[in-house]
Amino acid sequence: MTARLLDGRALARTMTQEIAQEAALFRQHYGLAPGIAVVQVGEHPSAVRYIAQIERAFQSVGMRFSLRRLPRTAGAADLIGLLEALNSEPAVNGILVQMPLPGHLPPSLVANAIDPSKDVDGIHPLNAGRLLQAEGDYFVPATPAGGIELLRRYGIALAGKYAVMVGRSNVVGRPMALLMLHEHATVTICHSRTPDLASITREAEILAVAVGRPGVITGEMIRPGAVVVDFGINVVGNRVVGDVDTAAAMEVADWVTPVPGGTGPMTNVMLLRNVLTAAWRQAA
Ligand code: NAP
Repeated sequence: MTARLLDGRALARTMTQEIAQEAALFRQHYGLAPGIAVVQVGEHPSAVRYIAQIERAFQSVGMRFSLRRLPRTAGAADLIGLLEALNSEPAVNGILVQMPLPGHLPPSLVANAIDPSKDVDGIHPLNAGRLLQAEGDYFVPATPAGGIELLRRYGIALAGKYAVMVGRSNVVGRPMALLMLHEHATVTICHSRTPDLASITREAEILAVAVGRPGVITGEMIRPGAVVVDFGINVVGNRVVGDVDTAAAMEVADWVTPVPGGTGPMTNVMLLRNVLTAAWRQAA
């Protein structure tokens, strides 16, 4: 069996066009395109790379992007002060604080300081709580939002399926597990203390993985005919690989996200989507 690919790159291209059209419509109505403010503290190389990607994505759909930088030595009061200013700036529809932050600034500081209606990264406790309850308006972190969108757009139904999420981080594993639950899958969450991981993953009709260890899921750990969603992004030598042994998964599964080109390209596009949604909600 050779699995079919869940092509995130192609879907991201399609969604980028859809978002560009909607952003133009927003601009016609309100005279200003939706916009994000990205906050960068220090000069972490991965943050600099990711911010450049975000800027290109926003420019490509005619949405506004602004970068607010603080030095590495900035204190909690500087960061909170900047976030409060952005919270009350009407032209800023969404705020994203690029991780990682310098060690003396805990991420929870940021999560609590962003206005929930501008929290397009879905990290504020109000958004996380509403996602848990599936009630009211809320924002879902872009990576799991992209994973579930890939499944939806490929017509893969989750209702009644047995889904396993390996990884329980607040940015990927936990929200993805909730999103699958909201789609009426029966969900098991696994993590580093789960004994005999393979006995659980082998039962999964939908297997989602966000661990950050290349090849942690081998071919023998995958149920024949499964749908495999790999969120892992690991640099090995000069290659980027996922958490799943993709070549082995292709022999066993029915659907597989490639790495690169699967969940990765969906993340930026879902951030655009969240900012556009924030702008419509704020304008209503
Ligand atoms: P994280 O915060 O480090 O969380 C990793 C999770 O994996 C934790 O819940 C951990 O369990 C669990 N884990 C670690 N070793 C395990 C093992 N041997 N067996 C089972 N579970 C294990 O990582 P993250 O931020 O969720 O990121 C995970 C991966 O996704 C990384 O490769 C990251 O680069 C990638 N990522 C991709 C995107 C994208 O756009 N596609 C976005 C964000 C992240 P404990 O909770 O018990 O420690």
